[in-house]
Amino acid sequence: MDCPHCKNSININEGLPLYCPWCGGKLNPDTDEAGLASMLLQAKSETDSVKKHDILIKAKEIYGVRREIEKELLLLGRLYERGGKPDFYRIPYWPLNAIEKPREFSKRDRQKMLDSFFSNPQLMRVAEMYEDRMAFINEYLTSMSEEYVRTFMQNSNTNLYFLGFRRKADDVRSRCESCMIRMLNNLKDMKEIPDDMKTPMRDALIEGFGRVFGEASAAELINI
Ligand SMILES: [Zn+2]
Repeated sequence: MDCPHCKNSININEGLPLYCPWCGGKLNPDTDEAGLASMLLQAKSETDSVKKHDILIKAKEIYGVRREIEKELLLLGRLYERGGKPDFYRIPYWPLNAIEKPREFSKRDRQKMLDSFFSNPQLMRVAEMYEDRMAFINEYLTSMSEEYVRTFMQNSNTNLYFLGFRRKADDVRSRCESCMIRMLNNLKDMKEIPDDMKTPMRDALIEGFGRVFGEASAAELINI
C-alpha cells in the first residue's frame, strides 16, 4: 500500500505497521468491524483463489493484522499463485497425500511434505493469535482434511470411468472409505508425523470425511 502521508510504498506482508518506515507518519488501521466482516464474507464466498487472495490483502491494508484475515490467508495457502513451474506445495493440503500413499514418495520427500504441513510457520504464527491454540490447530487440520477428501478422494474416484459409466455415488463413497481406512492405518506408524499430532490428525481426517460424505459414514471409521 502507499503511505497516506508521503505516498511511498509500504510492505504490509507482516501486516500494517503502526508508523510509516519512510516518513514516520502514523498509520491508523480502520476499526469498522462491520466493514471487516463484510470483506471476510466476500472472501469466503469467492471461489477464484486469485480474487480471494486480492480481497484478503486489501482487507489487510485497511484493517491491519487481524486474526480473522490471517486465518483465511492460512487456509488459502499458495493456491493463488500462477505461472512458474508446477508446484504441488501451492495446495496447502496436498502434503496429506504422503499419508494416503506413502510408497509413492521417497522417505526424504515424505519427510519434507509432512514437515511443511505440521511445522508450517504460518500455521504456528496464526494459532498463537487465538486463546485456545490447540482448538485452532484442530479446526485447521479438519478444514485441510475436508478439502483433501473432496479434491484427492471424491473427485478422483468420481471421474474414473469404468466401461464408460460414471460411478454411482454409493460406489464413490465406499471407494473413498477404503482410501480413508488405509490412510488412518498408515498414520499410526508414520515416523514423519510428530507423535502429539497423530490423534488430532486422525480425528480431523474422520471429521473431514464426515463433512463430505455425512456423519454416518464417518461413524464407521471411529474404530479403525
Ligand atoms: Zn510515509
